[in-house]
Amino acid sequence: MKTNDSKLKKLQLDLAYEKKSAWDGLNKDLVFRFCTGYIDFLTRVKTEREAVKLIVKELTKKGFKDLAKVNNCKKGDKVYKIFKEKSVFCAKIGSSLENFRLVGAHIDSPRLDLKPQPFVEKEGLCLLKSHYYGGIKKYHWVNMPLAMYVVAHTKKGKVEFSLGENDNEPRFIIPDLLPHLAKEQLEKKGTKIVEGEQLGIVVGNIPVRSEEIKEKVKLNILEILNKKYGVIEKDFISADVEFVPANKPSEIGFDKSMISAYGQDDRVCTFTTLRALLDSNAKRTVIGMFVDKEEIGSMGNTGADSRILENFLLDLVKSCNHKGAVHKLFENSKSISADVTAAHDPNFPEAHDATNVSLLGHGVSVEKYGGGGGKYGTTDASSEYMSWLISLLDQKKVVWQTGELGKIDIGGGGTIAQFVAKYGLDCIDVGPCVLGMHSPNELTSKVDVYSAYLAYKTFFES
Ligand code: MN
Ligand code: MN
Repeated sequence: MKTNDSKLKKLQLDLAYEKKSAWDGLNKDLVFRFCTGYIDFLTRVKTEREAVKLIVKELTKKGFKDLAKVNNCKKGDKVYKIFKEKSVFCAKIGSSLENFRLVGAHIDSPRLDLKPQPFVEKEGLCLLKSHYYGGIKKYHWVNMPLAMYVVAHTKKGKVEFSLGENDNEPRFIIPDLLPHLAKEQLEKKGTKIVEGEQLGIVVGNIPVRSEEIKEKVKLNILEILNKKYGVIEKDFISADVEFVPANKPSEIGFDKSMISAYGQDDRVCTFTTLRALLDSNAKRTVIGMFVDKEEIGSMGNTGADSRILENFLLDLVKSCNHKGAVHKLFENSKSISADVTAAHDPNFPEAHDATNVSLLGHGVSVEKYGGGGGKYGTTDASSEYMSWLISLLDQKKVVWQTGELGKIDIGGGGTIAQFVAKYGLDCIDVGPCVLGMHSPNELTSKVDVYSAYLAYKTFFES
């Protein structure tokens, strides 16, 4: 029997859905130029507080105002609200608040915090006891030069400083056990090779000259800290102290097609969401949401699993003198959870389902659901919503691909999607895929970064 090949071929996925390199259809110079700005952002932003500062600076440059100081919000107004210096929301007011578009990214990344009483002296070395934040492979964080960010409150007031980012500043390190003596260590399970209590950060070696003082090196460090920043040991009990990789972002590959840097989960979506929001020419109200604490489950008063999104909407409703109910606004609106996903790793192909994994350089990933196991810990976007979104992206020629975090039963991971969706608005995960996620050097493809920007901008303008 003779078959009609072209008719049959239409029944299978067309080229747009087959994995195809996003580099083919995009202007390389444009992509590279966009990523120069992104690399600069990554260089300057290593913590959630730094992210808030820079986002607000950019917003202010573009005429955004503190929502608390705007009484009668109207069409064309641009506002923001900061929560505890660790999260920030912003909006460009459209013709009404109805049917708004929201894109949310998180601005915290895995790192090492300090314990409340971190200072110890052992055999002539002063160390700081750390407490890791977020899902890390602890053995990644040894032998890695670290920078420190401190926000402390002394008797005289608030003190804020960082150390280790500039070339003339000292850095800190957790030395790993030498291979010569690591026979036992190397036989341990990966999770036990370096344990939480072994993440002591080396910070000093010179003792004070004294007969009476026991911990001479520690006292010398405390003296340095006090002279330079006015802090004493007690101030560290309440301080926010974060240690992050001190490395700078770098272009990767002979073709410079990729970017390696700390914290791209989720600052890649933070940067692209912010740029998309600022550049978008939207008729509707558009909202940018930049939240903290995603890496530890979105809990707390600066995380997405709090009511700060609702609070922001309530403030907008009041300021805009909107008459309808807030829950109606939510139910009739659309949102994107802008977060990264896992890229296919050629060195570990066994972790992925080859037909359902995102590929580096193949456009922004759109994931119907995240989570783990039997779709736990996610929102499962409906056919109605996802088909609407991917038709929109196709129409505007944004290169996108599908994806799943990995093989079904080998792990999983959540995003803020489930916490946004709980208000009743549609939500779906959209973001670039990443290699080496949660490591001190995460790898992205520049073309995926740019595709994410295009996707968010298209969504804002829909
Ligand atoms: Mn993330
Ligand atoms: Mn993460």
